[in-house]
Amino acid sequence: MELRSYNFRLYPSKKQKGRLFSQFNLCCELYNILLERCKTTYKTKKVSLHSRTSLNNIIKEAKTSDSKFTSAHSQVLQNCSDRLSKAYTNFFRRVKEKKQGKGVKTGFPRFKKRVKSITYPQSGFKLLSDKRLHISKVGNIPFILHRLPRGKIKTLTIKRNRAGQWFAAFSCEVESSKRTHPHPDTKVGIDVGIENFATLSNGEAISNPRFLVESERKLKKLQRRLSRKKKGSANRGKAIYKVAKCHIHIANQRTDFLHQTSNIITKRYGFIGVETLNINGMLKNHCLAKHIVDASWGKFLDMLSYKAESAGGQFVKDKPFAPTSQTCPKCDRRVPKKLSDRVHKCKCGYVVHRDVASANVILNDTAGRAGISDACGDLTSTFGYNGPSASRVAEAGTTCDSPQLH
Ligand SMILES: [Zn+2]
Repeated sequence: MELRSYNFRLYPSKKQKGRLFSQFNLCCELYNILLERCKTTYKTKKVSLHSRTSLNNIIKEAKTSDSKFTSAHSQVLQNCSDRLSKAYTNFFRRVKEKKQGKGVKTGFPRFKKRVKSITYPQSGFKLLSDKRLHISKVGNIPFILHRLPRGKIKTLTIKRNRAGQWFAAFSCEVESSKRTHPHPDTKVGIDVGIENFATLSNGEAISNPRFLVESERKLKKLQRRLSRKKKGSANRGKAIYKVAKCHIHIANQRTDFLHQTSNIITKRYGFIGVETLNINGMLKNHCLAKHIVDASWGKFLDMLSYKAESAGGQFVKDKPFAPTSQTCPKCDRRVPKKLSDRVHKCKCGYVVHRDVASANVILNDTAGRAGISDACGDLTSTFGYNGPSASRVAEAGTTCDSPQLH
């Protein structure tokens, strides 16, 4: 069984928005009450209350002492204990990791100013038709069911983004696919980078969608306008809304690109090998950070992982900190390179673009990890890009003898 999330835009009326907001506020208040109690009890009695059962008991008390909590759906409130309990679990995990010497911040759970979403676990909602969603304590909200969620609906989360758009996210339990991949013998190694968004081991490159850079001018203009507006004025409110909308547009463009690219790759290849990203370490390097966030490699690898699985393919990650860019894929020699060296030139006579070399090292490593012996790398491109991203596929190594596209 695996979990899938399906998102739908909601169009609540003014009254319904008010009711949703009041549920959001109650959840926020309750979360802070729970955290406060946990903190004080630990300070005075050295007893930790972060288990779900003890948190739920506090919720019961809060409900009897303050009648306003009865205006929210009981399970939505109970979900607050889930969230805080998880926050504590993550905190303890980070403490453990820090003790092991990993460079993480422990970050104790904090009081919230607002919550971004509420969750209805199990009950409290009902699909009335493909145009109406009934939500307990809120009403029948108009929405468009543009696709049918597969499997059994487990939870419903109501979200609101900064541009004021409302969404319903259904989390569904779907049976894992037992499909076999149509091309089980095709293998690929993928190297992600700055020069190109990703480079495949067969020499193809997917060029970097610099959406942020392109849309930046527009965003900057909007931000300049915002800075000229008087604090607290209605026009400032409108300008904030426009900036938020621009950010959301860029994020949507990015997600769309990631979906299309990962679709093409998982359909083409039965075996996909990728590197293990050290994103936290990379983000500390500020000049790289913007591009890394823009390219969102982590999200890309996640998409590849679940899409490969549902297509019946194999997805394997290389071991962390593997020196993929410093090794020759043909003879395993160490070939030290600086970041500015763009060509891999080995004593064995193998000359290729450095990213293509890395992708091949990744392919060799991951195939070895998966126990596939004949992982010499699929050095000829067998499929053409027929999808919408055809224009984004550029040639990786123009100056060296990397295999040509098509
Ligand atoms: Zn070599």
